[in-house]
Amino acid sequence: MIELFKNIQNIKAIMSGRIDGDMRLNPDEKGIVIENPNREKFLSGCGIDNKRMVCALLEHSNKIVVADEKSPRFNVCDGIVTATSGLPISVTVADCIPVALYDESHRVAAVTHNGWRVIAKNIIRPVVKQMLSLGADRQSIAVAIGPGLCEYHFEFDLKDFHLFGPWAKKKYIHHAKGDKVYIDLRKMLTDQLEAERITKIEMVNDCTYCHPERYFSYRIDKIFPPKAMIVAVEIL
Ligand SMILES: [Zn+2]
Repeated sequence: MIELFKNIQNIKAIMSGRIDGDMRLNPDEKGIVIENPNREKFLSGCGIDNKRMVCALLEHSNKIVVADEKSPRFNVCDGIVTATSGLPISVTVADCIPVALYDESHRVAAVTHNGWRVIAKNIIRPVVKQMLSLGADRQSIAVAIGPGLCEYHFEFDLKDFHLFGPWAKKKYIHHAKGDKVYIDLRKMLTDQLEAERITKIEMVNDCTYCHPERYFSYRIDKIFPPKAMIVAVEIL
């Protein structure tokens, strides 16, 4: 288990590891989600109420939802924002980079799943906007960037780099090999946060590909649907 925001009071922000088992939610063809017993086990051990948790069913977009007591448990989106204390919110990841945000002074929190498509669409922008509308202040938002693919392991076809849109800048290409480029997604995320004038950023610099003993990695495991870790955030 990884703890984010260790130095901030009144927030619980945790991420599971490979050892904790697969935390993925698998909706059936009708979109009905069957509870995953690994989640109950892990979350109850962390003091988080799984039955109340508002969860993201990922779609690799920049869609976000605002969660409160009336929210459905499962929501198709890649980011969740809440100002409700005691209401856990979560995403899952397997190589994609989780980003948690928290304004301690105004008690507004968010969690996002940042695969490349989500980063290309800059989910950070609507998340920050929503946090501000719930009373947060840019200066007091702290951010934790969690484990994900490093700049040596996020391999991408050079011919597709333009799909990053406004973020398809040369400075994010760490190196190139043949027709492949290796992109620094953490740098891109940090720049997106700084563009929102958010500078209190902590980073877990672990790569899921470099450390398969600690994390599930879609690019290592090559199983579909991928086995995933959960990132859960709760304002206490
Ligand atoms: Zn790596």
